Amino acid sequence: MSLELLKVGHCFHPEAIVTRGASLRSQKFPAIVALLKHPTKGYMLFDTGYAKRFMSATQPFPQRLYRWCTPMHLCESENLHAQLHQRGIAAEDIRYIFISHFHADHIAGLKDFPAATFICSEEALSSIQRLGRFRGLIKGYLPSLLPEDICQRLVLIEQCKPCLLHTRFSPFKYAYDLFADGALLAVALPGHAYGHFGLLHIDQGTFLVGDACWTNQALTSASRPHPIAHLLLSDTKQYYQTIDKLSQLYKKNTDVSIVPAHCHDTYICHSATSYSNMGQGNLDQGNLDQGNSGLVTDDDV
Ligand SMILES: [Zn+2]
Repeated sequence: MSLELLKVGHCFHPEAIVTRGASLRSQKFPAIVALLKHPTKGYMLFDTGYAKRFMSATQPFPQRLYRWCTPMHLCESENLHAQLHQRGIAAEDIRYIFISHFHADHIAGLKDFPAATFICSEEALSSIQRLGRFRGLIKGYLPSLLPEDICQRLVLIEQCKPCLLHTRFSPFKYAYDLFADGALLAVALPGHAYGHFGLLHIDQGTFLVGDACWTNQALTSASRPHPIAHLLLSDTKQYYQTIDKLSQLYKKNTDVSIVPAHCHDTYICHSATSYSNMGQGNLDQGNLDQGNSGLVTDDDV
């Protein structure tokens, strides 16, 4: 069971929007995608980052406002297709895409993976469907990025097996076991966007948290975004509660590696770590080992 982080485009934003009190200088924020390989289910992506079609989706007005607020850059070397091709992986080899939430910088590439089953929360999907063009845009949605057949290729997180998390992930208590094998657990991280979920990779103790916090500074130094960023959030109070919980986990258990989707430092740190066990995972010996499990076992009760 393996996991690798890929940088799929980036945007520019004043630093002070993400970190209150910081400089107004424009800073580069990567869009981080995780490539996972499950021993029996095959390749999975956690989000897709940017894709070229983001430009056409933000060509008309008012969608163009999105592009003005967060100018996007995607060079050929950061293109997701090119990075997968480099690793000998075709678009059709991607069997699953876990969607943390439906903001455009996380789903712009969905249409590029015709064989993928999408995994997301019911609340996340219904929010992009129910919000109108203007309210949806303010909340970071561009519905034209959705594949037309998304509803026919869907697994809802809420329909997966619910489970209790091991105390090493406290204060988080509940999760959904995606493949009922204890390997990948979806954890609700509400507040940033409707139905926002993160993904725990139990084997490596990696917690992909999407946009539950934008950078690891929010966890290490309790930095907060500028109040103007609250406009984007689905629930400001829940957003800060989620950050506080992640911060508690970060301070309590250094074995868990928390990965925000736009944190440059985290990306660099993970890239320096070798995930050389691509394809070496073994359900019987690894993922279900009681001692390393993310689930509550009889021994824990
Ligand atoms: Zn977001």
